[in-house]
Amino acid sequence: MARVVVVGGGYGGMAAAARLAKLGHGVTLLERGPRLGGALVPVEQEGFTWDGGPTSTLLPAVVRDMFRKSGRPLDRELDLVELDVLREHRFADGSSVRLPFGSRAAQMAAVDGLGAGLGRRWADHVQAYAEAWEVLRREYLERPWSPDHLPAALRDLLGSRETLARRVRGLKDERLRLMATYPAVAEGHEPRDVPAWTGVAAYVEQRFGAWTVVGGMGALADALTARLATRRVEVHTDTDVRDLVVRGGRVAAVATSTGDVDADVVVVTCDPRRLPVLAGYVERTMPAMPPVVVHLGLAQEPPGLAHETVLHGSAKEPTITLRGSGTSWTLLGRGRVDEDLVTALVRRGIDVRPHVVTRVDRSPRDLVEAYGGSPYGVLWQGRRTTFRRLGPATPVEGVYAAGAHATPGAGLPYVGLSAALVAQLVGPA
Ligand SMILES: Cc1cc2nc3c(=O)[nH]c(=O)nc-3n(C[C@H](O)[C@H](O)[C@H](O)COP(=O)(O)OP(=O)(O)OC[C@H]3O[C@@H](n4cnc5c(N)ncnc54)[C@H](O)[C@@H]3O)c2cc1C
Repeated sequence: MARVVVVGGGYGGMAAAARLAKLGHGVTLLERGPRLGGALVPVEQEGFTWDGGPTSTLLPAVVRDMFRKSGRPLDRELDLVELDVLREHRFADGSSVRLPFGSRAAQMAAVDGLGAGLGRRWADHVQAYAEAWEVLRREYLERPWSPDHLPAALRDLLGSRETLARRVRGLKDERLRLMATYPAVAEGHEPRDVPAWTGVAAYVEQRFGAWTVVGGMGALADALTARLATRRVEVHTDTDVRDLVVRGGRVAAVATSTGDVDADVVVVTCDPRRLPVLAGYVERTMPAMPPVVVHLGLAQEPPGLAHETVLHGSAKEPTITLRGSGTSWTLLGRGRVDEDLVTALVRRGIDVRPHVVTRVDRSPRDLVEAYGGSPYGVLWQGRRTTFRRLGPATPVEGVYAAGAHATPGAGLPYVGLSAALVAQLVGPA
């Protein structure tokens, strides 16, 4: 039985710890903050509660698999609900589309509302990712991989010079291009620096739908915390990991603010740039910056908003994403954010100013400080970024990497899959 230490108690760290404990290892989880959950932890103020980070997830199978492989199945712990419309796109010219999930035909019909023939064009764009998804899933996301031994299909995909910006040129209509690049832009990337294959998100959304957790993402963090207790994972909060201790070429301990913790295996789920032993390996990476966030507690529900509504920007206007339900709403600002997002909303026809009871402002810097790094992981700087990240293995023997910094995109599915890859590599006790 190896002594496993997991660094970081976000979704990535908790998922890795639960899986490895179930495989029979003695697992210790170290979290610098006062509670577990990372970006899943809700924000609360004056009786209002908001999801601090994610409000929904794609690929619920990843969450289900984690619960099943670490004990009781998910349905006994919490409810996942599929959204019929996850995202409404509103464009500068006044047109809009409510994009349904889970059905190609429904998406085609909805997008046709933007103009005859556009539905087909969008559906073809999305469908063109079907093969890439199969290759990625089989060879990259569900099976540990190494840059030196890539299967041919995966090597071609990851090595392709085609960028997302170039791929979407074929869509012809600017609004379709905005829809196709939105997932990358929302995660802080420039479409010209992102490989075309990352557009696979549109296919995954269309095919598998998007899901929320009843009670908010805090309920997922609570269920995972309970799972760690069941699996007897030793959890230390308020414990800042400062570095790894390497002896004879392999990891021997983790150096923390409260002393060293011996380890045979370490799973790093925080930004490895912050741990000196690993920093040199990732010096050519940058974190993807979080957005400007404003949580609003309103006196009354704003009318006509989908669970997620995107107000696409321009050279002069920020792109604002509104997320929420009832009277708790969150604004995420990207692009040209040079004024209060609530004021910028007014020009887009949504004036909530008279109804604001309370608000919590969180700058990108606040978020990075709160989470000890960016929950959006590594900034795409061209196709080589794939090989500049660490994970699932690292060059230091006994050290593995999971979480947003070890995956090709932020988001719970990729993060959950990265934890499963590490569990495969470490194997049973
Ligand atoms: C505003 C926002 C909106 C988002 N929306 C979505 C969405 O809708 N859907 C979706 O799927 N994803 C979304 N995401 C992304 C998603 O939240 C993240 O990809 C995911 O939660 C990352 O999990 P993680 O465990 O890798 O990192 P984190 O959740 O950041 O957790 C890292 C943990 O490690 C701890 N830590 C850091 N350094 C140290 C150290 N040195 N020692 C000990 N502990 C340390 C931190 O305190 C933190 O608890 C969003 C993120 C944000 C911020």
